[in-house]
Amino acid sequence: MCNTSTGMCLCAALRIPHSAGGIMQYDLLIKGATLVDPAQGIHTEKDVAFTKGLVAAVEDDILVSEARETVQADGRIVTPGMIDLHVHVFPGVSHFGIAPDPTCLAKGATTVVDAGSAGADTFPGFRKYVIEVSETRILAHLNISSQGMLTAEIGEFEIPEYANVDRALATIEQHRDLILGIKVRLSKGRIVSERSGLTPLHKAREAADAAGLPIMVHPQDAWCESIDDILGVMKDRDILTHCFHGTRCGIMDEQNRIRDSVHAAMERGVVLDVGHGAGSFDWHIVESAMEQGVLPETISSDLHIYNVSGPVYDLTGVVNKFLYLGLSLDDAFSRVTDVPADLIGLNGKIGTLAVGAWADAVVFERRQGTFQLEDCRGQIRTGTQILAPVTVIKGGRVYRDHAIGIPESGAASPRSSAWSPTAHRHRHEHN
Ligand SMILES: [Zn+2]
Repeated sequence: MCNTSTGMCLCAALRIPHSAGGIMQYDLLIKGATLVDPAQGIHTEKDVAFTKGLVAAVEDDILVSEARETVQADGRIVTPGMIDLHVHVFPGVSHFGIAPDPTCLAKGATTVVDAGSAGADTFPGFRKYVIEVSETRILAHLNISSQGMLTAEIGEFEIPEYANVDRALATIEQHRDLILGIKVRLSKGRIVSERSGLTPLHKAREAADAAGLPIMVHPQDAWCESIDDILGVMKDRDILTHCFHGTRCGIMDEQNRIRDSVHAAMERGVVLDVGHGAGSFDWHIVESAMEQGVLPETISSDLHIYNVSGPVYDLTGVVNKFLYLGLSLDDAFSRVTDVPADLIGLNGKIGTLAVGAWADAVVFERRQGTFQLEDCRGQIRTGTQILAPVTVIKGGRVYRDHAIGIPESGAASPRSSAWSPTAHRHRHEHN
């Protein structure tokens, strides 16, 4: 089947294990694709080979005879495994929760950060029953509410006592390997009672400072005049998620100009993160912000049960919206690879396909056609091109290969459908 003497694989199939003789120094080879790796400044055709769970070689031409298995990816794009800084993957405990492997890993997000689904009371279970048994690499921001995001009926700050600094700190000390920061959601009513007010924000700050970690803030419709009051307590490397939401406490003033407090926060290193969600991506806000030169530093999905069937679908669906808005492939992929890798302290290991990095990669196919890109208000923009993840590699192993019909383990969901117009509508009720 394979003529290893010439190094030419004559097999028509995309993924054929090599059984012929010769020295096979690589476990897996991605051949023929255009490598887009902003961390290395590479955007050109390169073959990428993996051995023992690490990137072993990135070269113009690696022979298929040198690898046990080859993903033939001519005409496609290969990127480092994507990093989603904002997801909710604690199913069965948090009402937002979805299973991580079919929704994140199978769609190309090899590393995700759960944004506060668990608090001090529930984090041990999150670790044991989700993080440690999932194939998706999961890290977390701990909710400053000790209960985390349990139910839609009782907000995580219904009583101010749920914002418990001591218990958060004890949990961080036990799980420092997984906890990257403190999450706080500030929306009035369903999340934060009037008597809790802005207390959760200040408790989050106190805990984060004591632990030497950043905070991630969900600012919509908080108990304050404007986002100025929230940004006032945010520092370098803190994350303002849902940065393009279109409700109260947004980044614009009444004249649709970016607020001075937002410019000042960005200058001192506060990170603007997309966190698309079910209510936090408004085409008008995004377009206006970008016209004023304000781009998000990281692109994240806020994927959860209320948006996984639309309008988010998956992280690639959000990346496609920024490609539609005119970001280059390099600028878009930087925001889901090397920038978040640096923020979570794993640069060099994830978010790049440099030799020695962990062997996580995604192969994308470009699809031409008419694609409806929907925001959280039902507003549609029509694109003519999208990327779709077709092969996902985690730890040097092919986890999913849509191109030849290997589904991810245990999931029956079809391919990413970021262009589907049939979105579930849970506007404004959930972030
Ligand atoms: Zn969220």
